[in-house]
Amino acid sequence: MTDKSFLSILTGSFSTPCADNPTVAMIEAAYRHHDIDARYINCDVKPDNLADAVRGAKAMEWVGFNCSLPHKVAVIQHLDALSEAARIIGAVNCVTIRDGKLTGDNTDGKGFLASLKDVTDPRGKKILLLGAGGAARAIAVELGLAGTAHITVINRDPAKAETIAALVRDNTRSDATAKPWDGEARVPDDVDIVINATSIGLGDKEAIPPIALDSLKKGHIVADVIPNPPRTHLLREAKARGCTPLDGLGMLVNQGVIGVELWLGKTLDAGVMKRALQDIFGSSD
Ligand code: NDP
Repeated sequence: MTDKSFLSILTGSFSTPCADNPTVAMIEAAYRHHDIDARYINCDVKPDNLADAVRGAKAMEWVGFNCSLPHKVAVIQHLDALSEAARIIGAVNCVTIRDGKLTGDNTDGKGFLASLKDVTDPRGKKILLLGAGGAARAIAVELGLAGTAHITVINRDPAKAETIAALVRDNTRSDATAKPWDGEARVPDDVDIVINATSIGLGDKEAIPPIALDSLKKGHIVADVIPNPPRTHLLREAKARGCTPLDGLGMLVNQGVIGVELWLGKTLDAGVMKRALQDIFGSSD
């Protein structure tokens, strides 16, 4: 007999389509770096199979999994508990399984916040948030919980922007307002941080959200959620105007770090994970 264990810790992701999701490369690079005997399995799970997939993860004693589109809301009915942020946001992208109990969290906004904190403390800051989809919702709630002073949400569909502003006002101490996004938006003079949380720029390095570029000023922090390509047109313009750019890779990396902390109680090296993504997507530097 040998005392070596041939049983790896199991983690992974449920979504569909999922072939272009790079999280497995990022997390397994860090597992290898830290010599952690764990796997991260990227699983294509169709909506009709979500319940079976969750039951399977529990039966096979996975310690946790991410879930991405289209399961972020549907997974909630299969869970035993939710974190405060996941409850407010109404969506789960990270599930921890402990003693057979499934707890849902949302790391989209937390990952963004961890990345933002590398360049500034969001407390007391004024934010312009572009977009009102799932990513914007998670980011707005976490910014509110982190103590921002005010968030202006702008979106083509203003009803979605108002839903997010109301979530922030009702569940955090931050103030928030919604505005329709018609034509080119101007960044108000008193704003500290501009965040593109739309899908504009994904897979298209020339696409740029319609904002008046002359309203971007030195001193602004300009963040983009787009991980691919990381050096978006918006970030290039922001950098050229003396703003501090923040790319979407940091958000993705920090989500991985936070997820594995929840599952294994271990903090992975963010640098190793970022390099794994840069090998795939290129760098924003
Ligand atoms: P959703 O589909 O939920 O939301 C998309 C948002 O973009 C909506 O507000 C939509 O406006 C807006 N939008 C899309 N096209 C345009 C346009 N041409 N003009 C103005 N607004 C537009 O997507 P998610 O919130 O889930 O994801 C958004 C992006 O965030 C994706 O590209 C995704 O890759 C990225 N992301 C990055 C993560 C990371 O870790 N870096 C994590 C999660 C997401 P409307 O409501 O009016 O249609």
